[in-house]
Order: sequence, then C-alpha cells, then structure tokens
Amino acid sequence: MPMSHAFKERLFPVLPQLAEYFGTPFHIYDEAGIRETGAALKRAFAGVPRFREYYAVKALPNPRILALMREMGFGFDCSSVAELELARAAGARGEDIMFTSNNTSAEEFAAAAHDGGCILNLDDINLVAKVPQMPELVCFRYNPGPARSGNSIIGNPVEAKYGVAHDQLLDAFRAAQARGARRFGLHTMLASNERDHRYVVQTVRMLLDVIAWAGKELGIRFEFINMGGGLGIPYRPEDETFDVMALGNESAALLATFRQREGYAPAVFMESGRYITGPHGVLVTRAINHKDTYRHFVGVDACMSALMRPGMYGAYHHIDVLGKTSSAADAPVDVVGSLCENNDKFAIERPLPPVDDGDLLIIQDTGAHGHAMGFNYNGRLRPQELLLGANGQVERIRRAETLQDHFATLQFESRVWRGAGH
Ligand SMILES: *Cc1c(COP(=O)(O)O)cnc(C)c1O
Repeated sequence: MPMSHAFKERLFPVLPQLAEYFGTPFHIYDEAGIRETGAALKRAFAGVPRFREYYAVKALPNPRILALMREMGFGFDCSSVAELELARAAGARGEDIMFTSNNTSAEEFAAAAHDGGCILNLDDINLVAKVPQMPELVCFRYNPGPARSGNSIIGNPVEAKYGVAHDQLLDAFRAAQARGARRFGLHTMLASNERDHRYVVQTVRMLLDVIAWAGKELGIRFEFINMGGGLGIPYRPEDETFDVMALGNESAALLATFRQREGYAPAVFMESGRYITGPHGVLVTRAINHKDTYRHFVGVDACMSALMRPGMYGAYHHIDVLGKTSSAADAPVDVVGSLCENNDKFAIERPLPPVDDGDLLIIQDTGAHGHAMGFNYNGRLRPQELLLGANGQVERIRRAETLQDHFATLQFESRVWRGAGH
C-alpha cells in the first residue's frame, strides 16, 4: 500500500487548513511514520551485533529530517561535498559518515578528509594513488560484474559505472595497505527499489563470501560490510511490502555462520534512503485547470520541478483527491504540470474521481528522491517542505524557491577573455 492509513488520518482532516495557511504546493513529511520505520529497522536487525543504518542523505537532504536520523542513532551516507556539509551540520563526525563518491574529484577528497574525516569508500583502484592522505580506515565499493544480475532499476553490474571489479579487488586493498590503511570495509550497492528481501540477503551473503576470501588472501580481518541501500517500498496499491524482519533474521543467521567459520564477525552497515522516508512524504498540489482534448487533463499547481520520478523513470505515484473516493466509474485522466515538456505528468491515463478546480491532490510516496531531485528547467521553482510533527504541529522546514534564488547566478563579477596577446 502507498501512504499509510495512520498518515492519512493524521494529515487529511487538517489538509484544507494547511493548504490555506502555507499555500500550495508543498511536500509534507510525517515525523511519526519516519520514527516508526526507523525503530522497526533497528528491531529487525537486533540479532545482528553492531548493525548501523547510514541514511542516504540524497534521498531527503533537509536538516530537520537529518536531525531525526541522528536522534535514531543513524549515520549518514554522503556522495557530494554538499551532503558532507549537511551531515556535519547535523553533528555527524568521523565514522558517523560514509563518503561514497564516484568519479571522485580532488575537491571531494579534501572535503572528505576535513573536520575529522569520515569512512572513505573508494570507487576505483586508481583512486588509491589520488587520495591526498590515506586514512587508517578505508572501504571499497565492490562491483561483482557478471556474478550478479542486478535488479531492473539499477541495471546490470557489468554496465554500471560504479565499483571495483572482482579481479581488481585484492590489488586495490593491497595498494591501500601500501599507503598506510590498516582497517578495512567492503561495500556494494546493487539494487534500487527492490521489494524482494531475498535479493538483499543474497547481497549480504556475497559480501561475507568476498571478505572471507579476501581476508585470507590479504591476511586481514574486515571491520564491516555495507550492503548498500535500495530496499523497496510499495508505490502501487497492489505492491507487496519489503520484509525487513526476514532480512534482519536471515542476515543474523549468515553472520552467526560466518563467525563460526572465520572466528570473528564484521559490523553490518546499510545505507537506505527510500525505505526510511519514502512512504512518509506526500506532495500536496491544487487542481487549477482541467482540459478535454484527445484526452482528459487535470492541471495542477506543481510540476516536475517538485517531483521528477514520473517524468524521468515513468514511476508510479499513487494519487488521492481529498474528500473524494475512487470508484469503478472513475475516468482516466493525465495529471499534468505547467512545464514545457510533455513528460511533465504526475500520472498518465489514471482513473481518478472527477476533479474540480480547487481540489487538493495528494501525490504519495515523495519522502525520498522527491524534492531533492527537482530541477529548474523552464524557470520552474521547487516548492516548500513541511514537517508534520509527532505532536501534531506542522512546521515549514524549507521555503519555496523564489525568482531571486533563480536569478542569483546572473549576479557575478564580469570577466572577459579578449583573445591571445592582449
Ligand atoms: C542512492 C544511494 C543509496 C540510497 O538508495 P535508496 O534506494 O534510497 O535506498 C544508497 N547508497 C548509495 C551509494 C546511493 O547512491
């Protein structure tokens, strides 16, 4: 099921007043739901000693949300300088942060080492020589290549731009050792929005097999494995939920077997974004036009600047119309924004109850990779973000962009190159 019944019960009765008070459109996140999911994840992994979630900051990079993650004891997975800054502003230091970059720049290495450093997760063997100062603790992102099929969204590992190939892995660790690394971890990220827990269990098994083999070859013990994120959520009403209890229990069993065989067990890290916050956010937008040509269109006051997933991946986001219940008689409509791109549609041929101008539409599961992914093409601005607190109060946690923000980069110091010899 998309948005939970409990979230609806908390939100829908006050939604007309919220729309009036804050104006539309907005993303609103549900603190109680986020806390419940975080607690459930920790319960599921209670049997795994030294389990830790590193919340993937890119999913919902808002300081108020990151503060919740920190309260729950989570670390942060960062992959850019901006995300490192957000994690540190939330109070994370050192091993609270995993820095997983790809095609890493010198600027990013410097930022990673700054302010107490972080766990550096290297994406390629050639980067070992480019790390300005090799930290004591280092991790590599492992790409199993043809050994794993990958899931449908993230694609085939052989084609992926991420990670160290299997045949390079030992040399990568040796090169890091030669530069002074003494503590080691192994990371992978193979799935995206995967709702079958068995795929992720398979990933844990793969990582344990690799560290058993590499550990012997290198004469080291690995401090941790990181199974990545990619746990899926049910975007469609008929979708199954991810069985996180089963993932936790089966991971615990794999760890126990590993400990028996190898005489130690690594810590287990995860870096979920979507699973933690995805279902606990919605985009609320008002219908402002309707149009009947070859199809029926409902025009709303948000556009793909607020939510790219439908336009970018053809992703499904469930939609409710406030105060109206769907029935078998619902006619299919396209729900569209105002951007000059024909893929600026939140839904295509979606049966919805009749929508009148002024109705509020609730576009669901926008709590991860929603606002954060928005862009400014066509001068379209990103909306505000609100937080529905566990105490029932609603707080603005990011204002909407303004035209001033949009035009800010047009104010700059003039600079002209007049050609060679001048
Ligand atoms: C995006 C990303 C994640 C989070 O993915 P979700 O699908 O939100 O769980 C985790 N790790 C890395 C390296 C990522 O790039």
